[in-house]
Amino acid sequence: MLSGYSNGNFKYFNRLFLAYVVIFIDMGKRLIVQKYGGSSVANTDRIKSVANRIAKYKKQGYNVVVIVSALGDTTDELLELAGQITDKPSDRELDMLISTGEQVSVALLAMALHKIGVDAISFTGPQVGIITDRTHTKAKILKISADRIKGQINKGRVVIVAGFQGMNADQEITTLGRGGSDLTAVAIATTLNADMCEIYTDVEGVYTADPRIVKDAKKLSVISYEEMLELASLGAQVMQARSMEVAKKYSVSLHIRSSFTNEEGTIISKEVKAMEDVLVSGVTANKGEAKVTICDVPDRPGIAAKIFTDIARHDINVDMIIQNISRKGYTDLSFTVPVAELNKAKDMMSKIVRSVKAKGVVYNNEIAKVSIVGVGMKTHSGVAAKMFGALASKKINIDMISTSEIKISCVINKRYADKAVIALHKAFGLGKK
Ligand code: ADP
Ligand code: ASP
Ligand code: MG
Repeated sequence: MLSGYSNGNFKYFNRLFLAYVVIFIDMGKRLIVQKYGGSSVANTDRIKSVANRIAKYKKQGYNVVVIVSALGDTTDELLELAGQITDKPSDRELDMLISTGEQVSVALLAMALHKIGVDAISFTGPQVGIITDRTHTKAKILKISADRIKGQINKGRVVIVAGFQGMNADQEITTLGRGGSDLTAVAIATTLNADMCEIYTDVEGVYTADPRIVKDAKKLSVISYEEMLELASLGAQVMQARSMEVAKKYSVSLHIRSSFTNEEGTIISKEVKAMEDVLVSGVTANKGEAKVTICDVPDRPGIAAKIFTDIARHDINVDMIIQNISRKGYTDLSFTVPVAELNKAKDMMSKIVRSVKAKGVVYNNEIAKVSIVGVGMKTHSGVAAKMFGALASKKINIDMISTSEIKISCVINKRYADKAVIALHKAFGLGKK
């Protein structure tokens, strides 16, 4: 009995030792996490091209974990379908619907890799243990249990994970907010302690402004986490803002580049002294917000706290807040919310207006927020004046202003958003010439 036991134990130890050696060897390879956005996998030819790129890295000896978005505009198309049925779909069912897009692309990419002789396996978010909180359509990742991914890496496989999705403690499927595959990639790169996280997209990196709007925008070879986080939060679609919060917190090595070329893209790194010499690194506009104004709010302590506690309870993200000078005991209170959350905000506003005894509420979704971002602003003065001057020279009226250490934002009429971005880009000398 005893010998049997010890014999079994010895076998177990042997197996464990072997497993350890395998893990040691495989984990000794450099690990790269690559994320391919929707345009990079828009059709089967693009998927085949992505498979070839992955195969090259695998041949060079990398362990590769791939995160994929839904094909092309699939997510928009799925939302459009929901819109044809109802203008108030339940958030749970929305997640059931829009999480399907990524499941299609991971399977097709795995097949494309098999076809060229690369061992690969695809997974959904829940299958690899991406656990989120209970918020639907913009869930936060709480935990990733990396065992399943690591096990597959050790079998020599390329592991392909569906971006943008996870599962909550009630085993419900959740999604991570638009652009959420970036967050999946960054979170997996952190969990696996990857050597590099590459974000493949349809532009060659991060530019001084959206190259679709500003023709002479310049590609930045490097940008700080802080600046990229601000640019993303203020509307530069190239990285999801929440993914940048995680990347900054865990100093994930990020390289944003094109899946259509082999050019080097933009490296996101810690701030270095030289960056302060550049006053403004980028200009951006966010056309996806609306302004809510509660009129004639009684000017008493505690009213703002009441209003914004109610709004927060409904998971509505409030951005700029402005309160006008009090007149005869009343003020107007304005704030911005994402257009996608405006219906939800409207639903609760009449109740809030009644409960704080305000006169009424007006909405304006014809606004845009234009912003300039740069760590150099910390040490230079006169930046705001220059921004306001540039807008004034184009006869663009400023509705709201907010500033932080490294950014200035102005709310203007949406009609002038592109014109404002082009004017600011020029005023701060960001163009190619
Ligand atoms: P993906 O599908 O790969 O996730 P996205 O459409 O989410 O790609 O993001 C890439 C797009 O972001 C680009 O096509 C570009 O138009 C836009 N963009 C906005 N601002 C910037 C910027 N400052 N630099 C680069 N791209 C930007
Ligand atoms: N497919 C999702 C979206 O379009 C997630 C992503 O692409 O990152 O938002
Ligand atoms: Mg994106």
